[in-house]
Amino acid sequence: MLLHAARQATGIVRAWSHERLSPEQIRSYQTQRLRWMVQHAWDNSPFYRRKLSDVGVTPADIQSLDDLSKLPITTKEEIRHLPSAELLARGYTPQNTVFEPTSGSSGKVLHIYHSRGAYDMYFAYAFRHLWQLGYRPWYRVAYTAFDPLPSLPWERIGLGQRQQIDLKLKDARAFLQRLLEINPQFITAYPSILLMIIQVATEAELRRIRPRAIHLHSELLTDGIRDTIRMAFDCDCFDDYSTFEFHHVAYECPAHRYHIAADNVLVEFLRDGKPAAPGEDGDLIITGLTNPAMPLLRYAIGDVGRVGQVERCACGSGFPTMGLIQGRVDDFIILPSGRRFSPRIVNPAFESMPGLLEHVLVQEELDHIKLYLNVLPEHVETLPGTIVATLRDLFAEPVKLDVVLTQDFERGRTGKLRCIVSKVKQSSVVDNAARAYQLSSAEVI
Ligand SMILES: [Zn+2]
Repeated sequence: MLLHAARQATGIVRAWSHERLSPEQIRSYQTQRLRWMVQHAWDNSPFYRRKLSDVGVTPADIQSLDDLSKLPITTKEEIRHLPSAELLARGYTPQNTVFEPTSGSSGKVLHIYHSRGAYDMYFAYAFRHLWQLGYRPWYRVAYTAFDPLPSLPWERIGLGQRQQIDLKLKDARAFLQRLLEINPQFITAYPSILLMIIQVATEAELRRIRPRAIHLHSELLTDGIRDTIRMAFDCDCFDDYSTFEFHHVAYECPAHRYHIAADNVLVEFLRDGKPAAPGEDGDLIITGLTNPAMPLLRYAIGDVGRVGQVERCACGSGFPTMGLIQGRVDDFIILPSGRRFSPRIVNPAFESMPGLLEHVLVQEELDHIKLYLNVLPEHVETLPGTIVATLRDLFAEPVKLDVVLTQDFERGRTGKLRCIVSKVKQSSVVDNAARAYQLSSAEVI
């Protein structure tokens, strides 16, 4: 516990100092980390030793950031089929790492392992961001999550205490009650949950919740959603782009620009395999600089972004910026009662169940969902039933759930698999909620 506290405190000091570096110093830091990570992957990761050998690249070929393109791209498909012994670097095991299963927006289950030291650095990077947005460790903080966050060593002395809005609660009124109870000075949440709360809250209830700022994450944040949340709680909102594979990738600063967490990741923007020009959209290719347990070099994350500006931002950060993230436009499940479930709420209910390889939920009608599941043969008898029971419990209203066992998943227009596909017209649901709220506030004013 003490070791964690010490590591996290040192991490915060380091994280702060990185953000103050000049762009040249940041590139030099990244070069040093990249060379270390490639050497480490070569020496200790059976997967990367084989992958680099196959294309005739050795660590000696990677001397600068310009050499990055010599490394082959790593795909989700490749790592999805690897056993942990291949995925993990020598010295790391599932027992001495932090394990995170994820299916992200693709519905394909991936196993990600982080070293405990890397996890402490992620904490430091998150702290750096939240501090910048006005968070202070003595504030009452409300966060939305399916499971409680791991406790912090600081919480023992009353610092950094966070209170959960449990997403297993059955409805938006319950979320609202919990939020009123916490009376937070700072909120960190999924946008969709706050929208649900706004839809059911009265004006008077909303006026009782006055956080200093709201940190939003994990879902696409459109201007409409942002405005709705900002007006409802009368405070500014800031977005965060994190992934299970790397945690902090980019985060929105007080000047509302997305800074790449340049001490945690190297981000490339590729269009048809070549670097995208400034202002042009490109596939995000990410190289992790922090996690030695499971090196990921030039990893195609499946999202799309845009090269940003390089000059120093008004917020003082020397980290480069990037354009708004696209590709996280997930459909939501919308139930007959109007309750909405993003993949971030639905997936954790079942994605870590053993034997599940892929899943796509297709909402055919308001009260009818088909579950397309790819399940290992030895789990076929039991797993589908368990998943149906879990979802029934989560949704807690009459919805027909049909299981279709398959290995043949249809990709969308972008070739990317989406884990929730809704045939229920839904953009209007968010927009209507936003509009209804704005109208009612306008009337009150
Ligand atoms: Zn900035």
